[in-house]
Amino acid sequence: MMNPKRVWNFSAGPSMLPLEVLEQAQQEFVCYGSSGMSVMEMSHRSKDFANILEQAKNDLRDLMHIPENYHILFLQGGGSTQFAMIPLNLMYKNGCADYVITGQWAKKAAEEAKRYGTVNIVASSADTNFDRIPQLDETKFSKNADYFYITLNNTIYGTRYTTLPNTGDIPLVGDMSSSILSEEIDITKFGLLFAGAQKNLGPAGVTVAIVRDDLLGHAKPYTPTMLDYAIHAKNDSLYNTPPTYSIYFLGKVLQWVKAQGGVKAMQQKNEEKAALLYNFLDNSKLFYGTVVKEHRSLMNIPFITPDDETNAIFLKEAQQNGFVNLKGHRSVGGMRASIYNAMPKEGVSDLVDFMRDFETKHL
Ligand SMILES: *Cc1c(COP(=O)(O)O)cnc(C)c1O
Repeated sequence: MMNPKRVWNFSAGPSMLPLEVLEQAQQEFVCYGSSGMSVMEMSHRSKDFANILEQAKNDLRDLMHIPENYHILFLQGGGSTQFAMIPLNLMYKNGCADYVITGQWAKKAAEEAKRYGTVNIVASSADTNFDRIPQLDETKFSKNADYFYITLNNTIYGTRYTTLPNTGDIPLVGDMSSSILSEEIDITKFGLLFAGAQKNLGPAGVTVAIVRDDLLGHAKPYTPTMLDYAIHAKNDSLYNTPPTYSIYFLGKVLQWVKAQGGVKAMQQKNEEKAALLYNFLDNSKLFYGTVVKEHRSLMNIPFITPDDETNAIFLKEAQQNGFVNLKGHRSVGGMRASIYNAMPKEGVSDLVDFMRDFETKHL
């Protein structure tokens, strides 16, 4: 292991960060550049912070190939606040939207949207405990929807979209909280994308929203100022004090992703990491995956053994051996390994070795 005191942390979020980034931030913690102060102590209107914000925005634009007609916003309130901001800002033509229910985050987003308009559930995989992305029937899509909402990667259940729904002129809105920068994506297919930082981008406290400019400026009249995308776009994410340290740290993570070779290289590495664990699960006589093959996530991999007692013993022994936060979400049970960008291949291969040994002992 790279650092004897650090464990392999498989937390779903907040989650592991690249060690190099933690160490760089540590070096700059007390004095940033020539400023004589910590980034935490800086005015958000200072030149130093303006540069940090601008650089982070440019790097994200480069990494994700975000066209000029999309605004990049750094917001607060987590992914969950987006569940309200989206209907408040986007339900402006007909007051209705289509949602696909692929798990608890999609369900929460739909519930929140119902407070502001009509929500059509066009498909759901609830009947199979969200072990797949449901089949989408385009004839069921609403012709008058103001937007069409999907959760690209389902953190709890370990599923992901491998093809995007074709929604024509209706803006596609995507929650990318647990998959941003993990694989290449065509931004132009979306009207709006968002991601809380604490899974693949940095520490908790900042949420990135990428919004096409024609979708700005239509917020419902009663929308709180702070929940209006147009206000944040007009003020370049500086309408009020943004989460300055989280943005600084996110910027460092973006530079790290660039140094790794960008999103394409990340995707390749993520596919290799996921394949290590899935191949093991597919051949194991003790452990098995809970998701249909064609919708398996690259980021969150749930797995179980045949009984709760073995699951509990596994989790305990894993913890003792430096593999932590592997407990699955209570709605799936068993285990879940979250292997975001910052998890090196070595962490996954160490886990697979440990699981192989455990299997030998317990079969
Ligand atoms: C974690 C997560 C959220 C919620 O994020 P918060 O920042 O805790 O509000 C929403 N959607 C997905 C897919 C997530 O993984």
